[in-house]
Amino acid sequence: MKSFRKVLIANRGEIAIRIIRACQELGIRTVSVYSKEDKLALFRTKSDESYLIGNNKGPVEAYLSIEEIISLAIKKAVDAIHPGYGFLAENPEFAQKCIESGIEFIGPTPEMMDKLGDKIKSKLIAQSIGVPTIPGVEKAIKSDQEAIKFAQKCGYPIMLKASAGGGGRGMRIVRNETDLLQEFHSAKNEAQKAFGIDDIFIEKYLESPKHIEVQVLGDNYGNIVYLYERDCSIQRRHQKVIEFAPAFKISAEQRKAICADALKIARSVNYRNAGTVEFLLDKQGNHYFIEMNPRIQVEHTVTEIVTGIDIVQSQILIAQGYKLNSKEVGIPRQSAIQTRGYAIQCRVTTEDPSNSFAPDTGKIDVYRTGAGFGIRLDGGNGYTGSVISPYYDSLLVKITSWSRTFEDAINKSQRAIRETLINGVKTNEAFLLNVLSHPRFKNGECDTGFIDASPELFD
Ligand code: ADP
Repeated sequence: MKSFRKVLIANRGEIAIRIIRACQELGIRTVSVYSKEDKLALFRTKSDESYLIGNNKGPVEAYLSIEEIISLAIKKAVDAIHPGYGFLAENPEFAQKCIESGIEFIGPTPEMMDKLGDKIKSKLIAQSIGVPTIPGVEKAIKSDQEAIKFAQKCGYPIMLKASAGGGGRGMRIVRNETDLLQEFHSAKNEAQKAFGIDDIFIEKYLESPKHIEVQVLGDNYGNIVYLYERDCSIQRRHQKVIEFAPAFKISAEQRKAICADALKIARSVNYRNAGTVEFLLDKQGNHYFIEMNPRIQVEHTVTEIVTGIDIVQSQILIAQGYKLNSKEVGIPRQSAIQTRGYAIQCRVTTEDPSNSFAPDTGKIDVYRTGAGFGIRLDGGNGYTGSVISPYYDSLLVKITSWSRTFEDAINKSQRAIRETLINGVKTNEAFLLNVLSHPRFKNGECDTGFIDASPELFD
């Protein structure tokens, strides 16, 4: 068993703060790293030590400085690195270099990341163990002729997807052959720019499914549990806006089948640490595996609230070598893991809904957040006087509500958003309120097509 004294957080913003808090509760000293653009960022002040990285690099590249982060970690006698999400979180080379430097990487092994980071490879794994996947052609398209042939085989409408994709990028819906080649080339270009790999494959486009994902946790000894599911169907441009747990109005059999398949996927790669198995659920109630994310996710909060399990602390304890059911990690056997009530997470972003959600920047003059019973806040860099820069994602604060019923969790979310006052930068609060008060949302009828099909949300 290892005992971490010091953990470095290779990330920024809200997730850096979330990880620092988990370390503090475990009595572990924290080291943060920051780019020159983040000199005044809040997360820096929350850690015990903080160091500038990537001084001669761009704002994003700074957080991707593998060599610099690792040599800093060695110099500062760090025991482990938590990568958060984004940046280096799913980079097998980074995880490998940590291991080679004698530093624990808080996450799965590089081999697991390598298999799961590729959507084609992970679909093939799912197929090999009998977990349903969306019909398609699981091969990188090599030519225009192949694109036409594979699309015909699959049948329109189709989805073009980057095998290395993430964050909704490199994905295109194609409804007929006329648009195919143009979309294929733009997906390829986007994938090359975003991921450095331009492999594109094809699958059937499902009309307005639900996005249901299952949180799993595995220790280093092959013990794996699931912490039930989240509904992440409220999406804009394939990116999540509001998430909740557990899913509302899906049948007990569906829930059971989805969780069982998630466990099958995690077991097939002997998964370790925290991960999420994602599925789409079609209107007929069929579920299909789409991918497994080998990292902590933005929406982990809702699962923590309904299960009472601290996922980030579990990640750190598992990386130290504790077993899931040890007194330290304290995860009970599967049958004793239960969800209680409903939790809803709203992502408050500095985006302007009246201007196609363009990111807004500038100084925050007033920053006042909601609070009270049933409200959890996971904030990033927002405070009165802080400056929102154009360099990073626009997530300002996550407002997560909890109540015994879905209806009251919605009431609490609405109340907390109304209590929030942010002046100086535009935010999406009014848009979030429109979603929360929409009858389809309240009835649990939302699917991934909801935002596009509801122009009234933009009023
Ligand atoms: P990323 O890794 O970029 O987040 P995912 O594969 O997780 O991409 O898909 C993100 C979202 O894109 C899904 O939640 C869903 O809304 C949509 N999507 C992906 N594949 C399909 C598909 N075959 N049909 C319909 N929607 C899809």
